This record gives sequence, C-alpha cells and structure tokens, in this order.
Amino acid sequence: MTAHAQDGFGTRLIHVGSEPDPVTGAVIPPMSLSTTFKQDAPGVYKGFDYSRSDNPNRRALETLLASIESGGARALTFASGSAATASLLQSLGPGAHVLSIDDVYGGTNRYMRRVAAEVQGLAVDFVDLANASDSEITSAIRPDTKLIWVESPTNPTLRLVDLPRLVSLAQSTEAKPLILVDNTFLSPFYASPLKMGADIVLHSMTKYINGHSDVVMGALVFPSTSRTDAIYERAKFIQNAFGAVPSAHDAWLLQRGAKTLHLRMAAHGTSALALAAALEASPHVERVAYPGLASSPYHERARAVIAASEGGSKLLRSQAFTKGVPFGGVVSFWLRGGERQTRRFLSHLRLFALAESLGGVESLAEAPAVMTHASVPPEQRARLGISDGMIRLSVGVEDVEDLQRDVLSALEFAVAEDAEESSGESSLVGSESASEVGDVETAVTSVESLTISEEKKSA
Ligand SMILES: *Cc1c(COP(=O)(O)O)cnc(C)c1O
Repeated sequence: MTAHAQDGFGTRLIHVGSEPDPVTGAVIPPMSLSTTFKQDAPGVYKGFDYSRSDNPNRRALETLLASIESGGARALTFASGSAATASLLQSLGPGAHVLSIDDVYGGTNRYMRRVAAEVQGLAVDFVDLANASDSEITSAIRPDTKLIWVESPTNPTLRLVDLPRLVSLAQSTEAKPLILVDNTFLSPFYASPLKMGADIVLHSMTKYINGHSDVVMGALVFPSTSRTDAIYERAKFIQNAFGAVPSAHDAWLLQRGAKTLHLRMAAHGTSALALAAALEASPHVERVAYPGLASSPYHERARAVIAASEGGSKLLRSQAFTKGVPFGGVVSFWLRGGERQTRRFLSHLRLFALAESLGGVESLAEAPAVMTHASVPPEQRARLGISDGMIRLSVGVEDVEDLQRDVLSALEFAVAEDAEESSGESSLVGSESASEVGDVETAVTSVESLTISEEKKSA
C-alpha cells in the first residue's frame, strides 16, 4: 500500500489491491474461488487457511478500502451493510448504551431496537444530532455510552451533522464514546469522516462503492489508534465466528465496480446539483433538499465536508460551479400538491425507475411516504417533513440533459389539472404493500406495522 502513498484518489482506486498477477501477468487479479488452502506443514500457511476467515479477493478489496477511506488503516468487508452493522454493535459487548441519530437507516434502527436490545441488552436513544444544542447532546451521553451512531446526510431529508463539533462534545464527556459514521450516501469521494475525527466508518457498498446495483456488501474502516484497536479486533473475531462474510466472487466484482468510483461520483454530484437547481427554479416545486445547493441551510456544513475530502475537493478545484457544489447523487424535493401529484409524477418518468435503494449508475425515484418510510407513523413523518408530496431521486450517470427533461416533463404532467388518470399510477399501490420487504430506510417506530410487514415478508 505504501507503494501508492503518493498517488491520488483515482489512481489508488485503479491500482491498490489490483496488482498484475505475479505468476501469469494477468493485469486483473484472478477470482480465487477455493474454499481451502494447501499448507506446507501442519499450521504453516501461505497466508490463507480457509475462505470464511480470509481469501485473496476479500483481502485485496480490504486493502483498497483502507486506502481510499482517508485516515483509514484497515478494513473489514461483510456480506451486507447490515452484517457490518450487526457485527460492530455486537462488538460493544453486553449492556452498552448507544446514542443514535434519530432518522437512522431503518434496518439499523430495527437491528438496534429489535435484535441488539434483546440479545445483548443494548440500550439506545435516538436524538436529532443535526439540530440538537450542545447541552442536549452532552446530557444524552451517559456514563455507559460506548458509541455515537451518525448518518450524515440523513435520509431522506438530507440534514447534516456538524461532525467536528460532535467529536469535541463527545470528548468533553467522561464516557468519551467512539463515533461511527455511516458514510454510505457520500462515499469516500465526498466525505472523509475519519479525517474529521470519527473513529469508525461504515459503508453499505451495495450503493455507491460498487455502483452497479448488482452486489450486496458492506464494510467497516478503522484508523490505527489505541481507541479503535480493541473494537477492530473484536469485530473481526465476531465476523469470523458467525460467518458474516462476503464471497470471493462478490469481492472481485465489487473491486471492479469501485475502480470507477471517482468518475461516477463526480458525474452523480454534478448532475444532482444541476437537477436540484432546476427543481428549485420550478414553480411546481415547494422545496428542494440538497446540501450542495448554495441556498441549503446545511450548505456551510456541506462545504466543510467536501473541503476535507480527497475526491470532492479536487473536483471543486478543477471545475467552477454556480449554483452550489456537487454533494453526492441523492436529491429530495417536495412538489406542490399531495399524493395524487406524486403518483402522477412517478408514473410519467421514463428514465428514472420507480425503485428503492440508491447509488447505482441508473437513476431511481421513489416516494418515501408510501415506499421506504411507509411504516413510520404519520406524526413522526410529519415531524421529519416526509409528506405525501416528497420525492427522493437517486441521480444516475445518464446524460444530464435527458434526466432534466424527464423530471421537468413529469412535473408538468403531475400538476396538469385536467389530465386523465394514468394507467401507470396503479403500480405505486402495489409497491405500498411491499414497502418493508426491501430497503427499510428510516426509524421504524411502529412495532405493529413492522410486525405486520414482516409477516407479509415471510408469507
Ligand atoms: C442500504 C443502507 C444500509 C444497509 O446496507 P445493506 O447493504 O442493504 O445491508 C445501511 N446504511 C445506509 C445509509 C444504507 O443506505
């Protein structure tokens, strides 16, 4: 890895963990599917013994991740982002307290409240870490608080946490909890939380790092500090003990996807900024949430995040932007009207597929109130601003002119008063009942609705 210490972000994405094969000269390392490895004598290995514990493709990918997540020294890769979450929380041991941002990813919320609470006595409090005062934050940190769980931007309202401030507040308490940042939405291109004082970074690589919507995988990245050594060792031990590991095949595919992360993220962000600005200018749109927009209340925080990042800061130096700065590929907005307009908007899109998830090269659109966040009780949705007129876009890397035309034309269709009902509208109704099956993306506080949906899932 030191061989690439002077290389830039894009160069490291292409080369770290991807050296030509010393035996055959193959420029791309082969996929190593063997489950077991021949030993020279009992207990004498060439570096690998059994593929659950480690394998060449996984190790190569972990080397890459430790290199591209600035401030990272080592990484662990998992069968999914959720497996990374579970392993890390288990590593805290019995009876720990976690302080979590309130609209954390729904699967994370579900694991904390419905699994970790039961099997390891985890206590968790959810706080609006983006807007809480200093004293609200410090008083929420208990003597037994082991970890603060941050997602920034939050989903789907894209609020940003002031991470350096949170780090110094946490350090001012006696508990001095570790700080984990789920960096899935921005990827190592736009945000380097370890450089801003976080102790652990988590990724659902299912999203941007793989970027092609064809692999489910997760990762944890750690710096090398006395604060994090023990939890890294524990997470690695637990992962191997219960087998939350990715396959060699997926690790190989993921490394291929990651090679273009810098190109994709620049395109995602540039197009998302253009779309956010066009939406903001539309008379049919009430409000746009995109921290990169100069008009966003979180814009100063977004600039600080980008300034500390390798990829984003380089993009800003190389290109001038007028409406703000590129800041990832997710844009949320509220169109004028309600559920009917939302359904009409989604039914008219040609290029944006109506689907949950995000981070792939293809554009996706969804209505959080009836899809990813349908199980959140109406009062909580109202508090978070997740109304029926809200739409979340995952802006892909198609030609931006085509994406813009698609969105603006769907907006016109959505608000046209005399238009006939579209046949496409019924498709949304079908997805309502399936809303919990896939990507549950926010605080799920209604146990009743979750139980019902899980019954549906197993049915
Ligand atoms: C998708 C996602 C996860 C969960 O990852 P999986 O790979 O689906 O298990 C966690 N956090 C965020 C922010 C996500 O978007």
